[in-house]
Amino acid sequence: MNISTVTRKHLFDLPENIVYLDGNSLGCLPRGVAGRASKTIEGEWGGQLIRAWNTASWMSLPQRVGDRIARLVGAPDGSVATGDTLSIKVYQAVAAALRMRPGRKVIVSDSGNFPTDLYMVRGLLQTLDAGYELRTPEPENVADAIDESVAAVLLTHVDYRTGRMHDMADMTRRAQAAGAAMIWDLAHSAGALPLDLAGCGTEFAVGCTYKYLNGGPGAPAFIYVRPDIVSAVEPALAGWMGHDAPFAMELHYRPAMSTERLRVGTPPIVQLAILDEALNVWDGVELEDVRAASIELSELFIAEVERRCPQLNLASPRDPAARGSQVSFAFANGYEAMQALIDRGVIGDFRAPDIMRFGFTPLYVDRDDVLVAAGKIEEVIGGELWRDTRYSVRSRVT
Ligand SMILES: *Cc1c(COP(=O)(O)O)cnc(C)c1O
Repeated sequence: MNISTVTRKHLFDLPENIVYLDGNSLGCLPRGVAGRASKTIEGEWGGQLIRAWNTASWMSLPQRVGDRIARLVGAPDGSVATGDTLSIKVYQAVAAALRMRPGRKVIVSDSGNFPTDLYMVRGLLQTLDAGYELRTPEPENVADAIDESVAAVLLTHVDYRTGRMHDMADMTRRAQAAGAAMIWDLAHSAGALPLDLAGCGTEFAVGCTYKYLNGGPGAPAFIYVRPDIVSAVEPALAGWMGHDAPFAMELHYRPAMSTERLRVGTPPIVQLAILDEALNVWDGVELEDVRAASIELSELFIAEVERRCPQLNLASPRDPAARGSQVSFAFANGYEAMQALIDRGVIGDFRAPDIMRFGFTPLYVDRDDVLVAAGKIEEVIGGELWRDTRYSVRSRVT
């Protein structure tokens, strides 16, 4: 496998002299996106005004974009709805799963999950006020926590902090064998690795599009529902855009007969158009090749950083098969070190309490970038450049 077969930097507007290792948090800007945004804003909105819902096919845009995402996550056409934010989609998926398993009162997630997923579940359980309980065992103990009392298992496939990856097929099988519904959060998986949602049989999956899918800040989220259970899904957020006939203006809610029933309100057309354009970079790309390149880049990165900086401790699984597309190192002054690195043109990020996080996105990161990054990390850590007091000022976003 040769990385150059997946690298397509020319499709992105990358700033000069920057090594960007944060595409796991906010993907880069694909070329063509700005033009598409201005066409949508000036040509469609400005020129056609409300007629654009029909003339520019705004009404079907969420679905068309959903089908393009479906192809990247191993799901059939029509099974992915787009819109809202990932937090909202988590809420909808868990609410739907609980209704499908009446009598069961336990939701299993894990202690490594992204906080908003757990916050949303607790918020939902408070609203339901029906004796539900959220359990969050350590990630390696999840399998043991699944028994016949469990209504739903909500797991983030790739841990946002460490990059540790759950075995999607195996965990789905275990959840379903116990009679629970499975929900996968693909925030750090979609666009990072090959996925087979249809093959693993999960009931639900949710994800965001501003990370590996390069949809831009605040890009719409997505939700997958296994096609055979759609008609049993009762939307907790019964918005008019999820109605079977929104413009019939019926007083009674009647959900659409597809995954579209998980749409809520008016879709964010400008963001969807941007995302639609951004997805062009995946044309002709095989995720197996992206995965192979990502492993090659991250193995090189780990080897180079460990050789140059014994002060850093690998916080990600050493086995690439157990890791997503990021590498994390623990370092007590990781915040300061990351600021010093960013100051030198190597952009990663920091997650409390001590994790320096580096994402690998082979479409626009190559071996040279990895070597430049390792060199700068060595300068910052070896030379203790992070001790400069300006690097200890905390920003709102880390
Ligand atoms: C990034 C991320 C989110 C973010 O949720 P938003 O509603 O899009 O802000 C949620 N869950 C996981 C697992 C994430 O990695």
